Formats: sequence, C-alpha cells, structure tokens
Amino acid sequence: MTDQPLSPPAVKLTAVKGMNDVLPPDSAMVEWFEATVRKLMARYAYRNIRTPIVERTPLFIRGLGEVTDIVEKEMYCFEDRLNGDPLTLRPEATAGVVRAALEHNLLYDGGKRLYYMGPMFRHERPQKGRYRQFDQIGAEAIGFGGAEVDAELILMAWALWAEIGLTDVRLELNSLGQPTERLAHRQALIAHFEQHADALDEDARRRLHSNPLRILDSKNPHMQAIVNAAPKLLDFLGAESLAHFAALQAILQANGVPFTVNPRLVRGMDYYNLSVFEFVTDRLGAQGTVCAGGRYDYLFEQLGGKSSPAVGWALGVDRVLELVKANQAATVTPPLDAYVIVTDSVAMPLVLATLQSLRAQGISAQMHASANGVMASMKNQFKRADASGARFALIFGPDEMAAQQVTIKPLRDAAASQTTQRLADLSAWAPTLQSPL
Ligand code: ATP
Ligand code: MG
Repeated sequence: MTDQPLSPPAVKLTAVKGMNDVLPPDSAMVEWFEATVRKLMARYAYRNIRTPIVERTPLFIRGLGEVTDIVEKEMYCFEDRLNGDPLTLRPEATAGVVRAALEHNLLYDGGKRLYYMGPMFRHERPQKGRYRQFDQIGAEAIGFGGAEVDAELILMAWALWAEIGLTDVRLELNSLGQPTERLAHRQALIAHFEQHADALDEDARRRLHSNPLRILDSKNPHMQAIVNAAPKLLDFLGAESLAHFAALQAILQANGVPFTVNPRLVRGMDYYNLSVFEFVTDRLGAQGTVCAGGRYDYLFEQLGGKSSPAVGWALGVDRVLELVKANQAATVTPPLDAYVIVTDSVAMPLVLATLQSLRAQGISAQMHASANGVMASMKNQFKRADASGARFALIFGPDEMAAQQVTIKPLRDAAASQTTQRLADLSAWAPTLQSPL
C-alpha cells in the first residue's frame, strides 16, 4: 500500500462472462449434492482422483481429437509466461485422468474405479445451462473391458437420480463399434452426404471428410431429413461389438432401467468406442443432456501408453441442480442449532469460549455480530434469531453473565419452555441442542 489516494480501477471488476459466482443459499445445494455423490461413489467403491486444472495443450489435442468442437473452438489456451509451454484450462477431465493413470502406472495391479469433481472451462456462448466455467462430476472405470462395468456406471447414475428425486431423466444408448467398423460406416456416410452435398450446411461441409460422424449430431432443422436417411453405424457392427451392446442392454433390462437405443447418438469427443450413452431431460430446453459418457478403449494408446479398456461418464452439476430446483425435490438449507444473543461486548471472551466448546461437540451456532462493533438491542437480536431459522436462541445477558449461565429459548417449538443452564455443565446440556437427524 502507498499513501497515495486510490484511483478507481481502469476496468470494472466484475466476474468473467460465463463464469458464475455461486452464493449462499445456492452453494448449500452444491455442497449437499457433492456430499450425496461422495457417499454414492463410496458405496460403488469408486475412489476420488484429483488432477490439475491446467494440463499441457497437446494432451487435449491428442486425447479429444483435432476436429472436435472443444479443440477447434472452446479451449482456453495460453503460454506459460516463464517458459512458453502451451497450456490449457481443462475442458473435461477424462484426458487428465488417463494421463495421470499412465504417469503413475495406476493399472499395474489391475483396473481402477475413480471419480472426480471440479470446474471445467470451455469458451462457449453463455446461456442457461451452458457456461464457460462449469462443474462436472465424473466416474471412470479404467482397465475394465466387460459390458458389466458399463452397466455398473449407468446403474450408479440411475441410483443417483432416484436418490435426489429426479424422475424424468431418460437414458439413450448407442454403440459406436470398433474403429474398423466405424471406417466402413464412415465411407458409406461420406458417400451418402456427397450425394446430398447441396443440402449440407457450412459446418457439415467442413466436416464431411474430417469427421462425418459429427454431421449426425447436427441440430440444423433443414438437415434432419438427410441425417435421418444416413446409413446407420449399428448396421456395420460385427458380432463381438453387437454382443457387447446386447450384454449391456440385458443388464439394464434385468434392473428395470428403461432406455432407448438412439442410433444417432454420437459424442463430442473422438475417443469413444462401443457403448455411448446420455441421460437426457426435456425440462432444460436445448441444454437437455445432464450426464453423458461411454467407452474409450483406445485413449490410453492414443496418449502414448499401454492399451487399456476404460469407460466413464461425466455429469453437469449446474444442469442437474437446475432440475433439482425445478422439482423442489430436496431441502438443503444447512440446519442451524443456535443463534447467539449477546448484549454487552464485555462478555465476548466467555461467549466465544462457550461457543468453541459447543461447536466442538457438533452444535452449529451463529453469533450475533454488528457492522460497527456496537451491540444491537435485545429486540433486534431476537428478530435476527427468528429469521435465522435456528431452533434455539442462546442468551448471554448481564444476569446470565453474572451467574455464569446461559438462557436457552426454543424458537420453533411453542410448547417447549425456556431453561437456564450453568456454563460449567455445558457437556451435559449441549447434546439437547443438536438437531435430530
Ligand atoms: P453439449 O452437447 O450440451 O455441448 P457436451 O457433449 O459438450 O454437451 P460433455 O463434454 O459430454 O458435454 O460433458 C458432460 C456434461 O457436462 C454435459 O452433459 C453437460 O451436462 C455438462 N456440460 C457440458 N458443457 C457444459 C457447459 N458449457 N456448461 C454447463 N454444463 C456443461
Ligand atoms: Mg459441448
């Protein structure tokens, strides 16, 4: 700091467009959701992995593919100022997880089930459900090739929707087969679209020879007819790929998970093969995919490692919570046991010491505090106590302080009466303040 008077900042110091603050009480919902997912992952024996938010740019170019939306136009790339290394804010986490697995030889003693949660960055046009920084939670089962693990992952997501009260999320499945099957299909696809070249939009024409599969994903209404008439990849799959797909469907059927096979379902990244799936809702407008994933048996090789099968999904936290809010399916206000009323700041050392002990015993307590250090009137503090939602008011007034006591006034239960307790007996009465589970 200098002694010079501050001049106003040259730019208005707002958040970056498309990157949102999450404020209370909304943040409580995110915390609740993350806690719910952590418990779920533990029940399915998925372990947490935390990879850096910044990775080397070539990881994504290699991993996701050069002609994907993400790599072509959505990545935040920059050079390390000190050594010029090309770096990128992660647009997704699967590439980083696979890099980490290779770097630390995670698969040396067999497959691993992993999950992550955290922010991803994509330079997209911000709109409802589409942001430039957004949270994803993802699960990755690496080193497993069988359809039972694809099924396990889908069942886990299905259990999550049930747990958080989402009933209108539907599952779409497809199989992308293996690279040779895709190649045959690709040639048929190019031939089909070449025949209808004049009906293609600019995006499709650009992709015709680089990534024709992505044309199937086009949202352009004028192209729907020729997209619908295009050769279906499913018709090009061999016996093994079909068996893998059938095995997945049989497990889902046996578990009562409804799904539709959507032969047009392709995913935004190049790394997928065999099973791909999306959980979709009609309630979020155009941003209807809440969770998406699939198998990526070739990504390990593509990143220069020993080949290993793998499958995973990622869900968009913002979109899922948007649905939870619309459903009012969960109440997530964190409980507050006690609001603490103090009439004279002379009492503060004792009050804070008492609160420290209460909180150590698991009681949540919010102390009245003022902007200017002057204690507000008792009446005003009681108003705040009521508004806080706390179950009890703890009153540290002059009489209480003189007698080394505290008055406990129930705020939510009209039938309950007020009591006065000795501070010395705190461990005896503290448990009575705790919210019932
Ligand atoms: P979309 O087709 O909506 O662009 P995507 O195929 O790019 O989705 P994935 O990369 O598969 O999405 O990411 C998995 C999930 O992450 C999506 O289903 C969605 O819920 C969420 N997601 C993706 N991009 C965004 C974003 N920009 N803002 C918020 N959530 C996102
Ligand atoms: Mg996208």
